Formats: sequence, C-alpha cells, structure tokens
Amino acid sequence: MINIPRGTQDILPSESPKWRYIENRLHEISRQFNYKEIRTPIFESTDLFARGVGDTTDIVQKEMYTFKDKGDRSITLRPEGTAAVVRSYIENKMHGDANQPIKLYYNGPMFRYERKQKGRYRQFVQYGVEAIGAENPAMDAEVIHMLYTIYRSFGLKHIKLHINSIGDMESRQDYKQALIKHFEPVIDTFCSDCQNRLHINPMRILDCKVDADKEAVKNAPKITEYLNNYSKNYYEEVKRYLDILGVPYVEDTNLVRGLDYYTHTAFEMMSEAEGFGAITTLCGGGRYNGLLEMLDGPKETGIGFALSIERLLLALEAEGIELPIEESVDLFIVTMPETLEATVQLVAKLRTEGLSVDMDYLNRKIKGQMKQADRIQAKYTFVYGENELQSGMIKLKEMTSGEVKEISIDEIVTSIK
Ligand code: ATP
Ligand code: MG
Repeated sequence: MINIPRGTQDILPSESPKWRYIENRLHEISRQFNYKEIRTPIFESTDLFARGVGDTTDIVQKEMYTFKDKGDRSITLRPEGTAAVVRSYIENKMHGDANQPIKLYYNGPMFRYERKQKGRYRQFVQYGVEAIGAENPAMDAEVIHMLYTIYRSFGLKHIKLHINSIGDMESRQDYKQALIKHFEPVIDTFCSDCQNRLHINPMRILDCKVDADKEAVKNAPKITEYLNNYSKNYYEEVKRYLDILGVPYVEDTNLVRGLDYYTHTAFEMMSEAEGFGAITTLCGGGRYNGLLEMLDGPKETGIGFALSIERLLLALEAEGIELPIEESVDLFIVTMPETLEATVQLVAKLRTEGLSVDMDYLNRKIKGQMKQADRIQAKYTFVYGENELQSGMIKLKEMTSGEVKEISIDEIVTSIK
C-alpha cells in the first residue's frame, strides 16, 4: 500500500466544508477591504526565494523543495507567497497602474520541508495579503485591522496581537552592534544556528525557538530604544490608528524580522487558547520596504501578512468553536424498479431547477433507501412509485418533523424552497 507523503494531509469530505467555509470568509473579508486576488504559480525559479525570502533564513537554508527540471533549471515549490507576489508586481509593472496602492491577496498551498509536528505541515495553505505602494501608518493599521477582523469573525476570543517596530535601516545599525556586544560573551551557550547568526544577523537570535527562554534573550537591548525620529513617529502613528480602529495589541520588543529589507512594523497573531500546543503563532506579517528593490523592482514599499488555514483550524478547535457547516441534501427520492427511468429524469430536472437531489443506485428496498436518505441528511424524501408516476401526486415528507404533505410533482421545488 502506498501512503500519503509525510507532513501532508488529505482533506476528506467530512473536513472540506470547513475549508470552504473559511476560504469563502477570507474572500469576503478581502472584498470588504478591497484587496484583489492574485494567483501565482506553485513553483518559481529557486533564485526568487533565495533573494526574496533571504538565503540566511530557515526557509531557504533548510526547508525548500528544490529540484532541477528537465531543462536543467533550478525550480522550487513555493514556500511562501510574498516573493512571488512581488515578482509578479514587478514583472507586470503594477507600479505604473493609476490605481494605487496595489492591494493583493492570495490563498494556496505552500511547501516546506519541515519536521512534522502539530500545526506544522510540509504542504499547508496560506492566505496572505500584500499592500504595495503606500508608506503610511494608516496603511499598516489597515493591514493589521484586516488580520484582526479575520480572526474575530470566526469567533476566536483567546487571541493576542503582538506588534513591534524594527525601525528603518539607519535605526538598526547601532542596534545590531548593541546586540552583538550583548550576546557575544554568552554565545557559546546558544544553539549553533544562533552562533552563526551573531555576526550575520544578530536580530534573528531574538526569534530563535531553541534559545527563546534564555536570560540573555529576555534582557536583550530593545529595538524601540534605538529607533530614530522618523521610525519612532511612524510606530506611534501605527499604534494611534490601531487605537482608532479598536484593535487591541500588546507591544513585544522581541518580535523581530531578521532580514534587512524588513522595516518598521512587525506583527504576529498568537493563540492563547489552552491546549493549542507548543506552536502558538497563527499569523505573521510586517513591512518590507527594501524587498522590491532587492528583487530589481521600483523603489516602492510594501506591507503584508500570511496565515495558514491549518493553524486557524487548530485555534478554532482549541476554543471549541464549531463552524456553521451545513452539508445536507434537499431531497432524496425513493425509487422502485419500475420507476427507475422516471426517477433518473426527475432527479436531473430538479437539479437543473436548483435543488440538491439524490437517489438510490444500489437497488435497495424502501427501508434501505430511507436509511440512506437519513445518512446523507436529506431534508425531504418521497417515494416515487407507479402510483405517483400515474397520478402526478407525491407525499413529500419532511425528515426532521416527519410531516407529510401531498403535493403535485410540479410543486416540489416551490414546496422545498
Ligand atoms: P513558525 O515560526 O511557526 O515556523 P514561520 O515564521 O516559519 O512560522 P511564516 O513564514 O511567517 O511562518 O508564515 C506565516 C504563517 O504561516 C505562520 O504564522 C503559520 O501560521 C503558518 N505556517 C508556517 N509554516 C507552517 C507549516 N509548516 N504548517 C502550517 N502552517 C505554517
Ligand atoms: Mg517556520
């Protein structure tokens, strides 16, 4: 027997309605905030991610599904969405559109070669947004408000939004030096990744999962003390707009993005639900003012976030929230050998009129067919026998109440609707 690849999952018919419900909601909220959908390829040139995600990140160093295609090109299954969206923005010259800023969203599978654990898959679905072309604290606040709206719209209560500012490049020069000075004496006690990060990318040490509980991490210098005036102001304005929008947040000075093209606002949504498990981040995002130029694009700035539907589902489960999923069928017609042909025709006709209808194909007895109607949660049933066929009258039974109404075949659609 061949099994499903490690770290992947089948979304079975019992689960897929939840996915559709969530994805429909995400499309709807995107519309409310006026973000337009973009669909990029599942695979891209490896270079795009090496540059666009950053070749010092875990994603690029350890997690990519990279292969050579038959034309000897290095191809990678996309591990995230931002790099491809920005590539497409540049390639399609969206900065030339009159309609600015460009507000995009995507929803689709991402691939990362990760250790399998709860909330961590090798194929997972990310929904994300990117707003490109407006450096304005109110823009940042809109993106964060959108993310907050999404989680709240599902009824989640035990969520906490963490925000921080990592300032601009100038602000970070001194900060990085301060971090190096702070960590250098104790770096031997840190994981080997952090030892490598110390000089390349010291901010990433604050983000390390292995060393998160170390004293030196907790009392590290804070970026907020190193922000220049512009950055400080920008951050204050973002917070002011969040207050205006009624978005609650906590400030988390250890929330960082280690790459140079990230600037100013960084944020994450965490679940605080009991039993959520070790991984509590539902969503991450931030401003990336240097990314477009890094990918040979125009000097435009952007901000975005990405969440995975898998972790949203885990959060819903942890809070015991049931989505209002209805998967019932309107009508199950109980057929007889002598009316089989007429039933096939009637089922087809009712379907074209908008009802969801099913019938028996296993030559079950009437009792067996009624059981089947129960199994598929049919709202109505009736027996379509020789008498009904001749008279044109049927006994429509509502399954929950057991109520029976005699009507003509022509009245089925109106009675049910
Ligand atoms: P983590 O710290 O959990 O590894 P990350 O920093 O790699 O997350 P991002 O690249 O910022 O995550 O991705 C954004 C969101 O996508 C995460 O907040 C999380 O909800 C989700 N996500 C990331 N990796 C996975 C995965 N392997 N399986 C399911 N969801 C994931
Ligand atoms: Mg990760």
